[in-house]
Amino acid sequence: MTMTRRNALLAGAALPLVPALGAAPALAAAEKQGAATPPFRRYALGSFEVTPLLAGTRVQEGPKEIFAANVPQEEFEAAARAAFLPTDRAQGFFTPTLVNTRSELILFDTGLAPEGILAALEAAGHAPDAVDVVVLTHMHGDHIGGLMEGETPTFAKARYVTGRIENDHWSAQGNEGYEAKVRPLLDKMTFVEGGDEVAPGITAVEAFGHTPGHMAWRLESEGQALMLTADAANHYAFSLGHPDWEVRFDMDKAAAAATRRALFGRIAEERIPFIGYHMPFPAIGFVETTDEGFRFVPESYQLMLNG
Ligand SMILES: [Zn+2]
Repeated sequence: MTMTRRNALLAGAALPLVPALGAAPALAAAEKQGAATPPFRRYALGSFEVTPLLAGTRVQEGPKEIFAANVPQEEFEAAARAAFLPTDRAQGFFTPTLVNTRSELILFDTGLAPEGILAALEAAGHAPDAVDVVVLTHMHGDHIGGLMEGETPTFAKARYVTGRIENDHWSAQGNEGYEAKVRPLLDKMTFVEGGDEVAPGITAVEAFGHTPGHMAWRLESEGQALMLTADAANHYAFSLGHPDWEVRFDMDKAAAAATRRALFGRIAEERIPFIGYHMPFPAIGFVETTDEGFRFVPESYQLMLNG
């Protein structure tokens, strides 16, 4: 029997193995830590610091019913497929934003409950007592939920700002959330209209439809601008890509769609970044216009270059 070169190599491989020097045995199987998302990012915007805070995230069943109520199933499935998204579930995010103007700490919205916002705030290095102003973009439960811990205000030293139309609406509804979370704070609350400022460079922008007095906020410092769009769009692919798709949480569907088109049209034209409360964390990106609506372009490092 002749031994080919190939056979010789195979025979060599079968020789008893000599333990390799320096190859350490595994110490132990490492415990899995569970999927994780850091709860804050921080960016410079002119002389401001802007900190999106992840107050919570959860799975939402039935995205078609939430974000595409008025479109055929096939159209929704095609859009989900185009965006590499599943059709049976979505991941919801709740992202208040903290703005440090160097004169004041201003918190926009508060999440579902105090725990989430307090944990994210602490991770970002801020005590709740250091918050000077809490701005409410609107009064849905996932934005006002962190205001009160039982009878106690979460942000003990803060004053509050919201849209006059928004407050007028909810104060007349006998709404449980409003009565528990907002009414106890009314003596420290001031009311604004579109165009009013909460601080120099931080201006209310009417974005009605999602709720009757829903406000976006434009931040501008040293020539750099960013829009806080709150709930003007509730999903980065479905609502931005298809602004006319009806969103379950939009109280006035037609007004909400018109606001989406106008507000994101302006953001696209200005090519400024925006933070959307329900966008995938850190909830910040840009939009470009498409045939039907807008394409969300997540921030990569553009704002890191601000310093
Ligand atoms: Zn919301």
